Amino acid sequence: MFKKILIANRGEIAVRIIRACNEMGIQTVAVYSEVDKDALHTQLADEAVCIGPAKSKDSYLNMQNILSATVLTGAEAIHPGYGFLSENSKFAQMCEECDIKYIGPDSHNIDNMGNKLKAREMMIKAGVPVVPGSDGEIDSEEKALKSARDIGYPIMIKASAGGGGRGIRVVSKEEDLLDAYNTAKTEAETAFGDGTMYMEKFIEEPRHIEFQILADEHGNVVHLNERDCSIQRRNQKVIEEAPGAIMTEELRKNMGSVAVKAAKSINYKNAGTIEFLLDKYGKYYFMEMNTRIQVEHPITEMITGIDLVKAQIRIASGQVLPYNQEDIKIQGHAIECRINAENPDKNFMPCPGVIKSLHIPGGYGIRVDSAVYQGYKIPPTYDSMIGKLIVHGKNRDEAIRKMRRALGEFIIEGVDTNIDFQFKIVNNKNFIKGDFDTSFISKEFKNM
Ligand code: ADP
Ligand code: ADP
Ligand code: MG
Repeated sequence: MFKKILIANRGEIAVRIIRACNEMGIQTVAVYSEVDKDALHTQLADEAVCIGPAKSKDSYLNMQNILSATVLTGAEAIHPGYGFLSENSKFAQMCEECDIKYIGPDSHNIDNMGNKLKAREMMIKAGVPVVPGSDGEIDSEEKALKSARDIGYPIMIKASAGGGGRGIRVVSKEEDLLDAYNTAKTEAETAFGDGTMYMEKFIEEPRHIEFQILADEHGNVVHLNERDCSIQRRNQKVIEEAPGAIMTEELRKNMGSVAVKAAKSINYKNAGTIEFLLDKYGKYYFMEMNTRIQVEHPITEMITGIDLVKAQIRIASGQVLPYNQEDIKIQGHAIECRINAENPDKNFMPCPGVIKSLHIPGGYGIRVDSAVYQGYKIPPTYDSMIGKLIVHGKNRDEAIRKMRRALGEFIIEGVDTNIDFQFKIVNNKNFIKGDFDTSFISKEFKNM
């Protein structure tokens, strides 16, 4: 087992990883930007190294500085968390070359799955159903027009390098196509430095169902069941739950084995997520694979009892998975609400600032993964997600009741948050019935 791990991230996920290491008796090294000098991850780690100015590209995306900090502190492995360098194959490759263990899949896996276009092709080859779409890249307006006609409107234009719900456009008629194509392409070039675009059939009113998988370095792969992440705003997840309210045992078995097959087909290692769209008719399609730990991983931990971050570390150290598929059971129901410092009444504008007072909910079945504390100053530089409220109940109904209760107790003063908005969602009658799809927020909260 590793003696020392460097965490190449910040915020709640850095804290989450530090905590896991701590419990495993592993020393931790935090890296931080100048603005994160007093951040919780900087304070909780055994050692902390400043890696540059606030801007991500100068610090949390600065591979040279992160690798230097690793060598300097004698850390043997790097955990990338999510976001930042977590899906950067070049970084994983540099780690491999420096003989530093990257806690995640190898650089080829990241490269192949991070390129959504390539991922689609590989999944088609592996016999995994994918969303009907363009034959390869859309690199011209002519091809955009032709592909959209072949696929049939409505269609979705997507960035091959996309993530975090960006670089995506839905188009329902031909006259809107070229405008959407060009703006999405420009957005992708700016956001991801890569304007490679492709097109998919727009699946109407689908559920977003994803499967967590764990693969060791000896060819063993299991799935840890699904998460329903259909409650989204602008293609970004807002609430996630596990198991999915809509799932049957048969569908779970079916989709789970496809997810395992997908991971095996690319010789995948470590934790990963296969995202599917499930349409109104019960047909499912591969959408993308995330080759990292995910924001919503705690709900899977709550229902399976498996600590995913510890599992990642054990896998990276060469251990064999200690369970088979039959050993993975579902216990109860878990829900996660992402807590963001933003103002829902001002078009969800991020609201950085000082947390003047803070009360975190507690009690049986409540978990808060966060990196904020009273007096903490949320910098304007990074993501507005400041924490996650996770509840675990004996069934979905109890989980919803717990979530309502916990959101009601949650107090954050000094900055605007989406807590009230989350409260409205978990009190919505269609949400309570489990009757929703990815268009839920835009339909139920029209003026938002
Ligand atoms: P998850 O499936 O884990 O919820 P998200 O799509 O919400 O993943 O992304 C997790 C985090 O990583 C978010 O903070 C998001 O902004 C960021 N992120 C994801 N993909 C990218 C990317 N390609 N470039 C920059 N940031 C990204
Ligand atoms: P990202 O990398 O940004 O997470 P995804 O490809 O996972 O991008 O898509 C993000 C979200 O957009 C999905 O969760 C889903 O709600 C929606 N979406 C993506 N592709 C389609 C599609 N073909 N039809 C309908 N909705 C889609
Ligand atoms: Mg996705």
